[in-house]
Amino acid sequence: MLLAALRAGPASRAALASRTGLTRATVASLLDPLVRVGVLVEETAAPAGPGRPARPVGFGPRSPVAVGVSIEVDAVVAGASGLDGVSAGRRRVPRDHRALTAEAIYAGAAQVAADLAAELGRPVLGTGLALPALLSGTPDDTVVVRAPNLPALNGTRPTLSPAPAPTPRRTARSLTPGEPTRRSPGRVLVGNEATFGALAHLDVAPDLVYVSADVGIGGGLVVDGRVLRGTRGFAGEIGHVVVEPDGPACGCGGRGCVEQFAGRDALLATSGCADLAALRRALERGEPSAVEAVRRAGTALGVGLSSVVNVVDLPVVVLGGLFAELVPHLLPAVEAELATRCMGHPPERVVASRHGDAATVRGAAEAVLAEVLADPDRLLELP
Ligand SMILES: [Zn+2]
Repeated sequence: MLLAALRAGPASRAALASRTGLTRATVASLLDPLVRVGVLVEETAAPAGPGRPARPVGFGPRSPVAVGVSIEVDAVVAGASGLDGVSAGRRRVPRDHRALTAEAIYAGAAQVAADLAAELGRPVLGTGLALPALLSGTPDDTVVVRAPNLPALNGTRPTLSPAPAPTPRRTARSLTPGEPTRRSPGRVLVGNEATFGALAHLDVAPDLVYVSADVGIGGGLVVDGRVLRGTRGFAGEIGHVVVEPDGPACGCGGRGCVEQFAGRDALLATSGCADLAALRRALERGEPSAVEAVRRAGTALGVGLSSVVNVVDLPVVVLGGLFAELVPHLLPAVEAELATRCMGHPPERVVASRHGDAATVRGAAEAVLAEVLADPDRLLELP
């Protein structure tokens, strides 16, 4: 609770006490050990009024980070966030995963995450590993059910260590409240890329639909400030909402899914552009074939989103990944479909993600940070 309060910025012990309702003695007993290990630093006192000047406490520039790493179809993206949620660094390494074995894919992702951590030189609290796949199990014991665009991952257990140690039985949930849990600081939380992407947008609105495009299209539903996972964790697969039952075959096993009309490969094929850079240039020049390709993708996306909104009635749509940068060309078609297909009650807002293609790694790091903020004793165990 105290650390969560500090995410808004440095604060004095007195200010924290009044913000959290804890006594000043309790605040001091919780904060002082974290100051001793360097997670928090005391800033220079600002003399204000009579009495002893208050010394604000905040997260130090060398304080630990959480890392998010995302395995995309043809790249690995890694990003680190400090305890305050501020990005500490990010890198994107192009790598065509379609030609690789699962082992090579995971080892490559581990390397990119390790390189980023080494470059930052800050302790790592843990890593959120994002995959473009349906997953089953728990965040720390996960199996890939189906990765439509990376079938080499099907049936595998995602890992970031080349020789994984046996996973200790997770006992955290059985502990009584207040009892510290003991976990290795470098543990890995595995999740669906769009579920993590949705997590990066909890501050946009408490209820929203997040839909994000890369080669595939992923989605996440946020209800009452929480990502709706569904009974088996498959909720939010907006990319596989059908817009044309007899349309092109999809990697999911179905036909005519949104992804087949609005995913990256579909956009490149319909625009005749060789790659994204070419598509961007064509859009800048206003080339009719590129503009029309994005408009058609927007129509398919809008049709799919209308079905989603008609079922779950969420008031905000956030367009992420590739969609975020295409918004100027995409939005009119998306909004036109929502306006005509949502029974007079389209979403109040359709907005571009401000995180763009960094949303997934931000959300993956946030998932790790959320655990740490709920269990700050972990910060005292860091090397
Ligand atoms: Zn599909």
